[in-house]
Amino acid sequence: MTPTEGSRPLRAVFVAGTGTDVGKTVATAALLRALRGLGVAAQAVKPVQTGVAPATLCGDAISYAAAVADLAPVPGVPPAAVLRAFSLPASPQLAAAREGGRLTAADLASSIGEHWEGLAPGAGLLLLEAAGGLLAPLNAREGMIDLMAEVQAPVILVARNELGALNHALLSLEAVRARGLELAALVLVEPPRPVAEASGEAVLAENSRYLAEHLAAHWPQALFCRLPWGELSGPAGWQELAQVLLPLARALAETGSGSRAGDARPGVDLEARDHAALWHPYASATLLPPLETAARSHDNRIVLADGRELIDGMSSWWAAVHGYNHPRLNHALRAQSALMPHVMFGGLTHAPAVTLGERLLAAMPEGLERIFFADSGSVAVEVALKMALQCRQGRGERRRTRFLTPRGGYHGDTLGAMSVCDPVTGMHSLFAGMLPQQFFMERPSCRFDAPFDPAALDDARRILAEHGDEVAAVILEPVVQGAGGMWFYHPDYLRGLADLCRRAGALLIFDEIATGFGRTGRFFAAEWAGVTPDILCCGKALTGGVLTLAATACTAEVAEDICRGGRVFMHGPTFMGNPLACAVASASLDILEENRWQAQVARLERGLAEGLAPCRNFPDVADVRALGAIGVVEMTAPVNGPRLQRFFVERGVWIRPFGRLIYLMPPYITPPEDVARLCAAVVDALAADAWRLPD
Ligand code: PMP
Repeated sequence: MTPTEGSRPLRAVFVAGTGTDVGKTVATAALLRALRGLGVAAQAVKPVQTGVAPATLCGDAISYAAAVADLAPVPGVPPAAVLRAFSLPASPQLAAAREGGRLTAADLASSIGEHWEGLAPGAGLLLLEAAGGLLAPLNAREGMIDLMAEVQAPVILVARNELGALNHALLSLEAVRARGLELAALVLVEPPRPVAEASGEAVLAENSRYLAEHLAAHWPQALFCRLPWGELSGPAGWQELAQVLLPLARALAETGSGSRAGDARPGVDLEARDHAALWHPYASATLLPPLETAARSHDNRIVLADGRELIDGMSSWWAAVHGYNHPRLNHALRAQSALMPHVMFGGLTHAPAVTLGERLLAAMPEGLERIFFADSGSVAVEVALKMALQCRQGRGERRRTRFLTPRGGYHGDTLGAMSVCDPVTGMHSLFAGMLPQQFFMERPSCRFDAPFDPAALDDARRILAEHGDEVAAVILEPVVQGAGGMWFYHPDYLRGLADLCRRAGALLIFDEIATGFGRTGRFFAAEWAGVTPDILCCGKALTGGVLTLAATACTAEVAEDICRGGRVFMHGPTFMGNPLACAVASASLDILEENRWQAQVARLERGLAEGLAPCRNFPDVADVRALGAIGVVEMTAPVNGPRLQRFFVERGVWIRPFGRLIYLMPPYITPPEDVARLCAAVVDALAADAWRLPD
């Protein structure tokens, strides 16, 4: 839903059933009457009605109108509406398909938004009655609950009191919880009396007691109502039911039931609270950075609190390779959280960690044989540096305490990792005196797409010749230097460097935190060169962007040297091997192993190369390059990040440039038309000069 600036926030509540025919239409109609009795200009709306001939008043709308037939009409707010009607009495998916149509949650949510806009300004609340049960399909991928999630309105769940009611109600409540929806009430609709079997009354009473107790324990803010079977031939019968629902109507009228997605600027308050309390990455706490409030995400989209939907061009810093809310990742998370969210890794092990470790080793370059789990990329780099140092101690080489690394690298923000970042862009001057002094060599000068020039290795050769006996290890990002400049260099550089390291007795560490899991077109970028490093770090996309987890792998030789003479490796994070993160990472590997990523990344590379090519025509563009799922426009001067961020958000895309770089790194699932829109937004930004400093 994309409400326009200044539009009235949508106020709505969804009435959903535990199945079809449970009495939700009666509950909706009675609630409408209760609300109108309180003076709330409510309207009951059926977003999708099946089994009717389209007409202004059809299907359930007839019941809504009947429930308030004797009450004074509200000008501009008719009591009932049906938005989409289909003649086949079947699930919305089937009924729509029969008529050659396809329903989507997003389209229906837009129709609801437009319908609300079309009502008189005094309209107070929409009662949106779902069709069928919560998971009744709208299309092959989405169900009724996806529409509810799209609208983000609170839910009134209606169940029929009968044998089996508990199971259906509890299942539906789990689904509501799993989608992060708010529960306003559970309405238990009583069957007509007398009930048939002898045990019937006892069962019904127990159902009611159980559900009331369950609600009090698990949904304390929700109301529990028992709706008697009504004689609905006239106003008196409706009034009786409305009376029962009066407490619910009052609660809705008082608290209001704003759809979270429809509020005009609901993020404004959060932004102010954020500014008062929080700090953002690489930001001032006093000169406040521009912020958008993200409310939800799906596929390759980030949905802002005001309902605007942005095409994601960043994969949330290289991590969300499968896009957002991937059902298999979310399922793995839920399943593991039900079993065991976390236990310490000291003295304990568990299947999620062991399985993931084995699978990672199988996917990594041959020769890496042991995994150490860390909780972020920076920590994985610290672990790699410490491994190299302890390995040297194990070998009795105590002089080898320094690292050699190319300029233009980036390895994280903790102190050890920072010491091997580019000394200029890594802000070493800020922490001078604190950071260990490392050796820096020239950035690999040979482009990825140009013939390799062996002279690119001269500086490495020189430093290793002069200081080789002090170097514990050489650390670098293979093929793509990421946050230090988005530079793509020739894989032959890595082959030559591996050779130099071997001769100088230096270990080789590959930081694949940004490049791992297919981003460069190979599963690990090391594969471009066919080189196995002694130590390899990965992170970011390891969990498909869902949870923080990283891993440092090393060869058996490194592990043995560290542990020589009964020594242990001195690192052990509290959340090491977190089962939730490991389970999600394994699910992400499952998706990658189905091997669609190769075709997806190849298609992205073509789309990015083509889409960004027009940028070459602008005089301030220094270079345009694409490799794998990474597209880069390098400017001749630093860009205006905040201004560009605003420009891009206005165009419905999420892109965060830095330094002299405007770059794209979309989720692998991004469809070609969205890649084109991302690229077009970058071209537009250059055409509009929106990249220039000052603001
Ligand atoms: N190494 C590289 C190559 C990275 O790109 C990053 C993150 N940008 C890190 C290390 C640090 O990872 P994290 O932010 O998870 O600490």
